[in-house]
Amino acid sequence: MKKRPGILLLFLGLILVACQGEKSAQDTSQRSEIIQPQKWWENIPRPVYSSLEKIKVSQDWYEVYKLTTDTLAIYEPYQFEEAISYLVLGKDRGILVDTGTGIGNLRELVTELTALPISVVNTHTHWDHIGANHQFDTTVCFNHPECIGKLLEGVGNERLQPSITGDSIWKPLPAELDPSSWEIPSVKPTKLLEDGDIIDLGGERTLEVIYTPGHSPGSICLLDKKNRLLFTGDTFFPGPLYAYPEDVDIDEYRASIDRLKGRIEEYDYLCSGHNDPWVKREVIPRVARAFQIIMAGEGDFKQDGDLRRYYFDGFDILIRTDMIKE
Ligand SMILES: [Zn+2]
Repeated sequence: MKKRPGILLLFLGLILVACQGEKSAQDTSQRSEIIQPQKWWENIPRPVYSSLEKIKVSQDWYEVYKLTTDTLAIYEPYQFEEAISYLVLGKDRGILVDTGTGIGNLRELVTELTALPISVVNTHTHWDHIGANHQFDTTVCFNHPECIGKLLEGVGNERLQPSITGDSIWKPLPAELDPSSWEIPSVKPTKLLEDGDIIDLGGERTLEVIYTPGHSPGSICLLDKKNRLLFTGDTFFPGPLYAYPEDVDIDEYRASIDRLKGRIEEYDYLCSGHNDPWVKREVIPRVARAFQIIMAGEGDFKQDGDLRRYYFDGFDILIRTDMIKE
């Protein structure tokens, strides 16, 4: 990784205070049917997985798929978020792009898959992307107060309860996990990323950091130029894009999609943070167009209170009515 001057941890106390009382980006306690449909698991297995090579692993909680020789998707199909983390391996080291819910033992899984030293890189710091960060020695996130603050804060049991009970789960939790005390521990980032940073994994494999705020203030994508892959986190995934929570900036979100559209010649496939790990790039211009359609007052949607779910081909967009403006 490129060295950056260490501005870091002086103001962290302040950031923690600022984060108190903030509404969760994915507060699952009052989930609308248009966010989490009943029996959502009837979509599983999603069609793409039958075309991917599945790797046998020892934990039932995870499914692992080989995308390229040195790129593995780590999928959690039994929890509503259907989180996907990625093991991206170079010659000398590897990166774990996000760590999912933390419900399984991700470190043990990664040890089965590679002997290379691994650093976690978070695309953003919503709970379902940082869950197993604490199992690893090094955690890297974007240099944004929200990212640093969220990692330091961790996530308490009360907030996580809705995500591991009722209809959010359709297979048993791992026996080692105690639902009454499970939480996501605080983690201190070991390094901070800037826009344009190049993460060098050795063997000519690099990941470029592309700052793509909008879904959350510190969201990034990672571009693997050699393999023509774009790791998108939650900036894009083939499901209902979360453009409604309090920490979304809709103008930034649209600008970030436009930015990815502007670089479309540099990647073929999107490796997204949920649902499907392998999506053709052509969807990105369609997402840009979808936002235009919504803002023009067009498009098909279902509404629940001030929340709308707009339906498009291959993805949907969840957005609040007050965010819809010309
Ligand atoms: Zn997110």
